[in-house]
Amino acid sequence: MHTGIRPFGPRRFPARLAGTTGPAAGYIETVNEPLTPSRASRPLAHNRSAGVSGMTDKAEARSRKVTVPCQFCLSLNRVDLSRADERPKCGECGKPILLDRPVRVNDDDFRRVIEGADVPVVVDFHADWCGPCKIMAPLLDDFAYAHKGEVLVAKLDTDRSPQTPQQFGIRGIPTLIIFKNGQEAGRRTGVVSGEELEALLASA
Ligand SMILES: [Zn+2]
Repeated sequence: MHTGIRPFGPRRFPARLAGTTGPAAGYIETVNEPLTPSRASRPLAHNRSAGVSGMTDKAEARSRKVTVPCQFCLSLNRVDLSRADERPKCGECGKPILLDRPVRVNDDDFRRVIEGADVPVVVDFHADWCGPCKIMAPLLDDFAYAHKGEVLVAKLDTDRSPQTPQQFGIRGIPTLIIFKNGQEAGRRTGVVSGEELEALLASA
């Protein structure tokens, strides 16, 4: 019935997570619907402090540009991760875009974030009710901080944004997917350790 759900955290949290592999803990019903294209049609906010978009593909390949939603107004901004410490500001609302921590993404902006990143993107598919996801949260914060400037860490709430998990066939959470050049390059389901997170990045 729930084949495909792998046990959570086999090494670090066996007792606590022993009962969490059932449907109530991590199962997302898969509904066979045609994949809908991203509804993200919001234009990129012009971001003077973080450079402009429209560079050639070659230049993009050398840069560390990412497309990220402002966590305050949700406008998409094109920013340079190598300038993360300069705290670029949202071109729309002027609030800081913090790139040393996970950014929240949703069904509307997911595609543009994944496809607009020159660096690997690690996406944490999670939900508020998911205990193992809560265990993962500080670990992802640390990972994002340790890799600021070279990796983008994103979090997607599978309750608020159910389309994207469906498209990627996610049946249990937490699930981590690492994307490179817009393509899935690795996946882990269940609680992973910091070492496993590094291994996921290294193997992608
Ligand atoms: Zn903003």
